[in-house]
Amino acid sequence: MQKVLTLFWDRYKQTHGNHEIYSRAASGLIDMSMCLPVLYHGDEGRGLKKKQVMIASTHGVIGAGCSHQNNDLGHPSDPSKDPLRLNMIGNTLLNHFIQFAAPIGLYNKSPESFDRLLDLQAKEFRKLFYEGAEINGRRFFIACIGVKGDAPFLVKAGKFERSFAHKPTRPSSKKPAGGVCHLCCAGKEDLHPPAPYEDYGSVRPAWRNTVGLLRPYSQPSPLLQIPLNGDGFMPEKLFQYDLFHNWHMGVGKTFISSAVCICLELVDETIECAFETITEDFKAYCARNRESPYHKSLTASLFGIQGSFQSWPEAGWSKGDFTRLLNSWFEDYCSRKVVGHTRDPLCLKCAEGVALINACIHGLYHEGVFIPSERAVDLARKGLRFLRLYAELALECFKRSKKRFPLIPKGHFLHHSFLDLLEQSLSNPDGWTVNVLIYACQSQEDFVGRPSRIARRVNPRTTSLRVLQRVFLAVRSKLWPKGKDDP
Ligand SMILES: [Zn+2]
Repeated sequence: MQKVLTLFWDRYKQTHGNHEIYSRAASGLIDMSMCLPVLYHGDEGRGLKKKQVMIASTHGVIGAGCSHQNNDLGHPSDPSKDPLRLNMIGNTLLNHFIQFAAPIGLYNKSPESFDRLLDLQAKEFRKLFYEGAEINGRRFFIACIGVKGDAPFLVKAGKFERSFAHKPTRPSSKKPAGGVCHLCCAGKEDLHPPAPYEDYGSVRPAWRNTVGLLRPYSQPSPLLQIPLNGDGFMPEKLFQYDLFHNWHMGVGKTFISSAVCICLELVDETIECAFETITEDFKAYCARNRESPYHKSLTASLFGIQGSFQSWPEAGWSKGDFTRLLNSWFEDYCSRKVVGHTRDPLCLKCAEGVALINACIHGLYHEGVFIPSERAVDLARKGLRFLRLYAELALECFKRSKKRFPLIPKGHFLHHSFLDLLEQSLSNPDGWTVNVLIYACQSQEDFVGRPSRIARRVNPRTTSLRVLQRVFLAVRSKLWPKGKDDP
């Protein structure tokens, strides 16, 4: 364990050298080989009577890997080349530690109680970082290197006044829009020169100069007490964007639903017949690749265009994995039915875009916690090139009066993830770059479902306590099944 932790902090230093752990280690105040890097996650699950229940948890950055990661990533003969494994497989009850469960009635009626929970949380993290905890005579430390969750959680926990909820909704308005992003001033309409968030994929977007320019809050979040950067620069960087919500549940859905509708125009039939044709193709692809799709048929209603082919497509599925599968199928479909069959740049850009983003996302899932910078540069460029194509598709569709490829704030958040990956790897070309997937939330989506289910089965007056108790009992029965003695 100590070798792995030393390796982690040595690598992390290459791109995050201003983390406070390094100055403390240099002063002999912390032993990095005994310091566990963790992430803090929050999300609302569905509790009793479908009312939300906020679940917060902590999990380790390093784990047993991910189902797509190459088995040969490790180098047993040379541990210095081991990229370390992501924490994305295994029973989530066993690799997450629940912090609290709070029914919405509690934090909606008295928002200060939510702040109080976060304050307690941050103070615990401070204590675990500065003092550590002694277990069996050995002192362990914990460093929380990020807070993650969906955009509503980040806004609530970070007290952000610039967020997705403040995107411009019309060409001009009396009150300028306040900006969509807590890291930069993108979409803030009273800014000169302007920094549009729709400038997807650019390596030098106008908003780049506004990163860290203005604090995104009036009152700091209690979570900002968590030790992070020793120099105090951009404390809001504690709150990380999540590839799962921004791609699988965001741009991945808007892209594939628009791109399929564009390419359907090549199928010379009615909407229903065209969808039947591509459904057959989709089923054959799934059979060839042993995929079990959540939705068996591709229909106009699933793509939200049942009213008219002129409607905005709305991806009507809620499973992130279905977005992955559709994009994989669509790449294959384009290679057979689009490329070489049309000269329409719209269709050809869809084909190029899906190949680029699949290579980028699949590539990230095949890496570990760290990516050799030379490969990270390539993955980041593919992601950025895809975003550029998406913006070009949106513009071309706008010119042709087609409602396709909406420019949503999640595209800007993806832009941050890919640009960060590029800048980190270029600044450290012979070293390692942190994989953005450590901040992705799909495992946490699974975990949140477990205490939420319990919350639906306990007395509503004691939900917070009973959920914690029952989660701990469930963990205990997983760790020590019947017949196996407690240690
Ligand atoms: Zn931004």
